[in-house]
Amino acid sequence: MKNLKNALLLKQLYQLKQLGFQYTSVSAFKEEESNLLLPNTLEKLQKQALACHLCELSKSRTNVVFGEGNLNATLMFVGEAPGSSEDSIGKPFVGRSGELLTKMIENVLHMKREDIYITNIVKCRPPNNRTPTPTEAHTCQPYLLKQIELIKPKLIVALGATAYHYLTGDETPISKVRGIAQQQENYTIIPTFHPSYLLRNPSAKKEVFEDLLKVEKLLKNKL
Ligand code: URA
Repeated sequence: MKNLKNALLLKQLYQLKQLGFQYTSVSAFKEEESNLLLPNTLEKLQKQALACHLCELSKSRTNVVFGEGNLNATLMFVGEAPGSSEDSIGKPFVGRSGELLTKMIENVLHMKREDIYITNIVKCRPPNNRTPTPTEAHTCQPYLLKQIELIKPKLIVALGATAYHYLTGDETPISKVRGIAQQQENYTIIPTFHPSYLLRNPSAKKEVFEDLLKVEKLLKNKL
């Protein structure tokens, strides 16, 4: 949250400087503190994210991929970052790994994709699909935290190591933690392998199938 606030403050300072103001005291910004907070509706939050230029990824993106699905979802999936298909369409998981994710939702969880909320750690595509840098992930984190706060899922499936790491702060390899439900303050998190890992290593589908059966069971117990 601090990164975003600092970046917004810096942006305001630059704008004021361009208007001819000189830096004297930052106390002038105190009254506007509320402007630095993220909005309390998903619609306004999305609007703000769509206009975001707080990190380098904004320079190369085609679309901001905010997230989509049921705004009152009990279950949320969090991936790593948009890929090229997602970047051109503006929706999460619409490429090859998205197709696999949709099949897993329908065939294993027996749910519809639109019943779930799906988003990513960062909302803009990293060039060449590289892993987001810690700065990019931390700068984007307030959007994700606010999405979680507003949607209030009971269960979050972290898809892959990056999602798990930035959601929990834990750096344990995904292979060691997958399938283990961890209770957080307001929701339970279950890490599993990322669908794109499954495309490269189809034999790991067995483990993800087991993890999703746990998800299904937990959902049944929580509803
Ligand atoms: N991989 C992700 O992590 N997220 C997407 O939205 C697509 C591919």
